[in-house]
Amino acid sequence: MGQLSGKSIYLTGGASGIGKAVTEAFIEEGAVLTILDKSAEGLAELKKKFSDTVKCIEGDVTVFEDHVTAVRTATETFGKLDVFVANAGVFDGFAKFEKVSSDAMSEAYDMLFTINVKGYFHGAKASVKELKKVSGNMIFTVSGAGFYPDGGGVWYTSSKHAQIGLMRQLAFELAPEIRVNAVAPGGTLTALHVIPPLQPFVKIVDNETKEKSIKTRNPLRIAMTSEDHVGAYVLLASDKARAITGEVISSDGGLAVRGL
Ligand code: NAD
Repeated sequence: MGQLSGKSIYLTGGASGIGKAVTEAFIEEGAVLTILDKSAEGLAELKKKFSDTVKCIEGDVTVFEDHVTAVRTATETFGKLDVFVANAGVFDGFAKFEKVSSDAMSEAYDMLFTINVKGYFHGAKASVKELKKVSGNMIFTVSGAGFYPDGGGVWYTSSKHAQIGLMRQLAFELAPEIRVNAVAPGGTLTALHVIPPLQPFVKIVDNETKEKSIKTRNPLRIAMTSEDHVGAYVLLASDKARAITGEVISSDGGLAVRGL
């Protein structure tokens, strides 16, 4: 029997990258999923591959009603909601604060924080009532940028710190019924999207350069892929983690022991 056998999980951003790998790992462990993503193409692929075990909702994490629809779909289709995974996010491409115009700074702030931070608030709010019924849990995808500088620019780094603050406060407020934890991946080879207002200020690097840069940044010298992180999510979602709340599992090749 899988570690997540019978669990109903709602995950955002499951059409690509880390969210997609986590979705596949959850299915392997016996879970059923409801996915909210704005990529129709990515969702169509998921639907084709997992028609019985995945329900797809095309929508936007910045719209509260889309989360409500996802939670309703999960409960109507699978009878309950055990786990909410907030994962959909966007990037600032390491844009340099001093170089970005004040207009672009403001536009980038609104866009990135609305997706990365408000999107997590919305998902948590829409899920909390159903999770409480089954003593479920939430997992937030954060980042090494939630702890250290230079995992992005100021927009991304501050949004990831904010997600960790949200996770800790929710863990405090929602105990004892609901556990709330996070996974902090380090730099990972995905298609993580740089938001339009910052695109004129950043250099888009090819995958080979990205791979080299990720490898040199972590002590284990791993160019991490999405699949490298799935074990942490499976553990936190499972009943084996029943004593863990308010924690971040770092899956980053050892950034905390990086020598300067
Ligand atoms: P990705 O672009 O491959 O996946 C992100 C998914 O989120 C996509 O399917 C995209 O369509 C969806 N999405 C984006 N904005 C959305 C919106 N407004 N509404 C609905 N769906 C939306 O990128 P990824 O790297 O897998 O990113 C997933 C998470 O991992 C993010 O929170 C990111 O910050 C975090 N993360 C990524 C890295 C990395 O180096 N790639 C490192 C640490 C943390």
